[in-house]
Amino acid sequence: MSIPNTAPLLDVRGVTLQYKTREHLVTATYRVDFQVFPSDRFVLLGPSGCGKSTLLKAVGGYMAPVEGDIFLRGDRIAKPGPDRMMVFQEFDQLLPWKTVKQNVVFPLMVSGRAKSRKEAEEKALDLLDKVRLSKFVDNYPHTLSGGMKQRVAIARGMAMEPDILLMDEPFAALDALTRRRMQDELLTLWEGTRFTVLFVTHSIPEAIKIGSRILLLSPHPGEVKAEINSAGSPQDQLQLESRIQQMLFSEEIREAENV
Ligand code: ADP
Ligand code: MG
Repeated sequence: MSIPNTAPLLDVRGVTLQYKTREHLVTATYRVDFQVFPSDRFVLLGPSGCGKSTLLKAVGGYMAPVEGDIFLRGDRIAKPGPDRMMVFQEFDQLLPWKTVKQNVVFPLMVSGRAKSRKEAEEKALDLLDKVRLSKFVDNYPHTLSGGMKQRVAIARGMAMEPDILLMDEPFAALDALTRRRMQDELLTLWEGTRFTVLFVTHSIPEAIKIGSRILLLSPHPGEVKAEINSAGSPQDQLQLESRIQQMLFSEEIREAENV
């Protein structure tokens, strides 16, 4: 089924998310609205604790909004599914007792995304080649660097051909050089298939580099502060960085005044 380009792939409407602990009710996000369209590189940007991971969890179907709705291709999200694959920040998201290749093949088989083992293996090897891990397909995760593990997680997510790839600060725990290289690689992968990605970060330069659209969230509880179209020339990007910085800074002043 083809969808007209004007229909959002992901539609987040007035979403309030809360955690209920025995002592507290924590409001993580408050009435957040945004829409992701096919082939968007949509970035959620905001300070630590503003509810970015919580929003991704809700899109993933792991958590239900207390207010508002989330729709994927027009259907309300009620549970997790292979149409939304998640890549996390942690390096330990791979199955340690399975090889690199098996880590990609396994979800393809379990979900029925691949019709046969042969098809699953072909897909796995193709994606592992795209993330430059052909030489390591029979390695176990503990023998890989952090960056390599993240590349396996990305290959696994992409092999499933989800409607949307959810990435929660996937490069935050990497050293600066590796991080920059991974950002470049993600963009190269995107050029190849123009998959839709919802990317979370608290880094302004990373948001500008990765995103075609950026949603700026206010500190706890996360509310939409602005939506920024970030496609532009490198000069525009420098201006954009200082503009975003000012927006975040003005928020801090307002917070300080409230104390
Ligand atoms: P971010 O990813 O932007 O750093 P999170 O979505 O992790 O923010 O957290 C948003 C808010 O929800 C924070 O105040 C955090 O302390 C709270 N929170 C996150 N997870 C839980 C949880 N499991 N139980 C209670 N509160 C939580
Ligand atoms: Mg987080």
